[in-house]
Amino acid sequence: MEPRINHLQIESQVHELLDYPVCTNQITSTIYQCSNDYTGEVNNDKEKPYNCPYSGSKCTATGDIRWLLQHLRNDHHVEMHDGRSFSHRYVHHNPKHLHHATWMLTLLDCYGRQFCLYFEAFHLKKTPMYIAYMQFMGDEEEATSFSYTLEISGNGRKMTWQGVPRSIRDSHKTVRDSQDGLIITRKLAMFFSADNTNSKELKLKISGRIWREH
Ligand SMILES: [Zn+2]
Repeated sequence: MEPRINHLQIESQVHELLDYPVCTNQITSTIYQCSNDYTGEVNNDKEKPYNCPYSGSKCTATGDIRWLLQHLRNDHHVEMHDGRSFSHRYVHHNPKHLHHATWMLTLLDCYGRQFCLYFEAFHLKKTPMYIAYMQFMGDEEEATSFSYTLEISGNGRKMTWQGVPRSIRDSHKTVRDSQDGLIITRKLAMFFSADNTNSKELKLKISGRIWREH
């Protein structure tokens, strides 16, 4: 069964930053424009093709970052958002029936680079969990020059994660299994839910920010 869900939805908006206004157009039209900035350094390792980060679908496509961006947009219909700051609302219509490896991918474009934001439902042993984390579309070395935060908030509660994006050289499964992200049990997630009077539906607001360390 195709693991990408139809019972998990995303409603997103891009935050405008005061010091660095961003385009609020949520469509992916800037994808090619920003790719032009990617001159890359001449380095054989860095030019080694990357696997498609939409790996939950068992996609076997490989290519350079520029090609993968087009592929994600055209073949997987992944949304791209501009800006260093973001806020997403994930809606899980039937969290009581949490399927393993149910996930959602969004692309973020900032600093002329692209990041994969994953939100995934999975079982850790038998406990239903959610995890959110970021992966950098580039090599490991450059990935470490960025940091990010993710914050779940709602109903007077807040939980924050600060991390370093992992390169997409690591599969999303590798990152998930290493638990290198914001992890929350389903039980706890329900306390953050925008509307926990309707326990059938989980609405989780996750905001975050990416910045460059150097
Ligand atoms: Zn693919």
